[in-house]
Amino acid sequence: MPVAVSIQQLHKRFGELKALNGVDLKIAEGELFGLLGPNGAGKSTLIGIMAGLCRADSGVVTVMGKDVVRDAAASRRNLGVVPQELLFDPFFKVREVLQIQAGYFGVDRRHRAWIDELLESLGLADKADQNMRSLSGGMKRRVLIAQALVHKPRVLVLDEPTAGVDVDLRQILWSFVKRLHREGTTVLLTTHYLEEAEALCERIGIMNHGELVALDSRAGLMERYSHYQARMRLRGMGDNLPEPVTAALTRREGDTVWLQVAHNDDQLATILAALHEHQIQVLEIETAEQNLEDLFLELTQVKRS
Ligand code: ADP
Ligand code: MG
Repeated sequence: MPVAVSIQQLHKRFGELKALNGVDLKIAEGELFGLLGPNGAGKSTLIGIMAGLCRADSGVVTVMGKDVVRDAAASRRNLGVVPQELLFDPFFKVREVLQIQAGYFGVDRRHRAWIDELLESLGLADKADQNMRSLSGGMKRRVLIAQALVHKPRVLVLDEPTAGVDVDLRQILWSFVKRLHREGTTVLLTTHYLEEAEALCERIGIMNHGELVALDSRAGLMERYSHYQARMRLRGMGDNLPEPVTAALTRREGDTVWLQVAHNDDQLATILAALHEHQIQVLEIETAEQNLEDLFLELTQVKRS
């Protein structure tokens, strides 16, 4: 698959703070990619650099092969960005906002039908002649999305599109994003909602403190990193537990140990064999599944450098 977005060794500091600390990422054409990370991870900074709103200290970003700095105009023609913040001139009407955007990209009159289609599919048709300031936050967000799509970009970037929106709007946005994806648009979506990345994205990158700490397919991430908790009550354990047990140990209280066990290897079997060998009896064993939420917490609690 040809590459739609390429990010190489991207660095950005704000004073002492490393907002981006060497991010490398390639997104294929047609992919629906999720960039997941807690607040302050650097997601919006990355998007600001893609959109040409902010300059990287070093590194290269291209959109459909066009460098966002050296070939800014060409890269922007291929890119639609829905920013996280709702910023509008309150005195424009919805349709005007879209027409101005179309004019900015030199979109000709024949494409004005596309504006109507966007208004329609985002449920904005009956708001087209209202002033921006009269719209609710959710409606403003829809206008932002329409605005990003006016010039039919091949790559759409949505920065936390559903932060603070109600459940209904979230569903509308999700199905709209899925439709764009089906129609071939490359989508990069940032979110701090696991549920969102899980529901929409084929591949997920997890960012924390300006670094990509994980990158895989959704299923792959789960499989590769997922652990589960095992609680065991043991008889006959002295102070020195066998190594496979101490390696997995997260807590010990009296005759009970809590272990963090990997899913996809034979770690549990190794632990049980070691206990048997040391004549430690397992009186009870109880396991709990780890979900994507736990995985996310685990990955984003990587120490700050
Ligand atoms: P995210 O979008 O993942 O929440 P941001 O990219 O907005 O993260 O922010 C990354 C870090 O950079 C944060 O610590 C934030 O406070 C800081 N930051 C972002 N923009 C600026 C700026 N213009 N000046 C100073 N610090 C900034
Ligand atoms: Mg952000």
